[in-house]
Amino acid sequence: MFDRISATFQDIVRSITGKATISPKNIEEAVEQIKYALLEADVHVRVVRRFVNQTIQEATGERVLKSVTPGQQFVKILYDKLVSFLGDERQDLTLKGPDTLSIILLAGLQGSGKTTTAAKLALHLKKKGRRPLLVAADLARPAAIDQLETLGASIDVPVYTDRSQKDPRAVVKRALSHAKRQAVDTLIVDTAGRHQVDRELMDELSRLVRDLSPDEALLVADAMTGQTAVDVAKAFNEAVGITGVVLTKFDSDTRGGAALSIRTITGAPIKFIGVGEKVDDLEPFYPDRIASRILG
Ligand code: GDP
Repeated sequence: MFDRISATFQDIVRSITGKATISPKNIEEAVEQIKYALLEADVHVRVVRRFVNQTIQEATGERVLKSVTPGQQFVKILYDKLVSFLGDERQDLTLKGPDTLSIILLAGLQGSGKTTTAAKLALHLKKKGRRPLLVAADLARPAAIDQLETLGASIDVPVYTDRSQKDPRAVVKRALSHAKRQAVDTLIVDTAGRHQVDRELMDELSRLVRDLSPDEALLVADAMTGQTAVDVAKAFNEAVGITGVVLTKFDSDTRGGAALSIRTITGAPIKFIGVGEKVDDLEPFYPDRIASRILG
């Protein structure tokens, strides 16, 4: 992830920090290189434009050009810009206290990693002392219920299933009353995915969101799909309103475009990243750490 962007940024840092003075032309050339690296990494074109314009505007001011350490000033601008585009501060889940039931709804396209992420989040919350219940409301893919049951058993987290139901709203309603009778403080609802964004999927999700008023409606998006992940996040946000994104397959050899674009294009923060197929392969998303990694 970010290998190629990182190589370009590190080249620029090396060449520009070695200079005693920097001219506007040096900055223009560096920004041009950055522009191509971002475009090549599949960063959304609107995000690239904004990144480039802001960098030029800030870097051609006196703060950089007249500084005694112009290279370092320029690198600082790049770092701050990366942090800002990745989402600024770390955004954690916003859940209620343990005495009131909290609800996390997971949405996303099929294959994005929704079911795996449901189990990963359950384990993450369990480790923090919460008592999650996984709810199998993905009724479109029969194997999803079995998959969630297997994952739940592997982390010792209960899974609510109802194979007699065809309507996810009914499953969720029953899961809610089941949760109230159990020692459970967080519901994690795995919903159906589709191969693409369509009306039926959005309508089903809208109804679930209306019924549940979840504390978190998280979109699970596959980082490997680049711009598509961003378009999907935008569509889900406009249709149902998401509170954040879990970007999966961050461990894969993707170019990083989704991570750099989602916040600007959708306004929704990336809250977690999936970094592997195992249940403990989930990490909180820290924009500053990623920016440091890119700049080397
Ligand atoms: P769903 O259809 O959205 O529920 O997707 P699944 O949870 O079934 O995941 C689809 C595939 O992606 C499975 O093979 C998962 O093991 C894999 N997967 C999910 N998250 C990650 C991740 O963060 N990294 C990697 N490498 N694979 C993942």
